[in-house]
Amino acid sequence: MFSALKPDYIYRDFSEDIADHDDDYDAEEWNYNGRDVLRGSIDPKYPDWNVYWLYDENLTRIGLAEHDSDNPEVFHSLWFYDNPFGTLFQESTWKKRDITLWSLLSSEAYQDCLEDDFETIFDRALHSTIRLMTPEMVTTIPKVYSCPKCNKKSLLPLKCSDATISNYLFSEFSILFLDDSFIIYEAPSNSRVWSLLSLTPPHGACERVQEQMPQEPESPTEQSDHRHTPPRPEQEPGSRTPQEPHQSA
Ligand SMILES: [Zn+2]
Repeated sequence: MFSALKPDYIYRDFSEDIADHDDDYDAEEWNYNGRDVLRGSIDPKYPDWNVYWLYDENLTRIGLAEHDSDNPEVFHSLWFYDNPFGTLFQESTWKKRDITLWSLLSSEAYQDCLEDDFETIFDRALHSTIRLMTPEMVTTIPKVYSCPKCNKKSLLPLKCSDATISNYLFSEFSILFLDDSFIIYEAPSNSRVWSLLSLTPPHGACERVQEQMPQEPESPTEQSDHRHTPPRPEQEPGSRTPQEPHQSA
């Protein structure tokens, strides 16, 4: 989850279990942005600001509250969503699709991946115009190692002496967002992911985008929709005035 308080910080703990430091803590009832929650104690892992994990009535961890340590009234609440991209960006509109990456492959390609125990799919995709993107890759965009002599491409350094390093995202490609189980996700057209990757959202991502430009003829080259262009201005999801949390008990 991208912190709303510390712009460069990303929370990577998505465990729904009780945090260790909250084990013997008598959690208090609070309300954050309209949600009744149980709030744990300050997480000692964050000495520079105050982080409290939030739990539901079953003591399942459902999110966190981050407060400025000097001005505790300055705070944001972040929540776990039912998909990793939604959680990362705090966007509820990411769509989990009913398909996995495997169902998109030809039977030959699937067979090749099967022989490699599915471990080489990310390297194999480098030879196509499709770029696979997991939540982890969105936050740390990998580099591509290529060898012109043996035509190898890899996300890991190659032993070849002629290997070159290039950017993962290039001028014309399409992106498939997927999780660790290779389930495919659809990004909303107003997602922060597009500006983070310096991309414009594909036209098909949102019907409203298409409705806004009815006079535009359909582009004959669908690929151009994915071209590397400056991002659209976007609305900052954290710009809402947060509601003051209040202790309800
Ligand atoms: Zn080589």
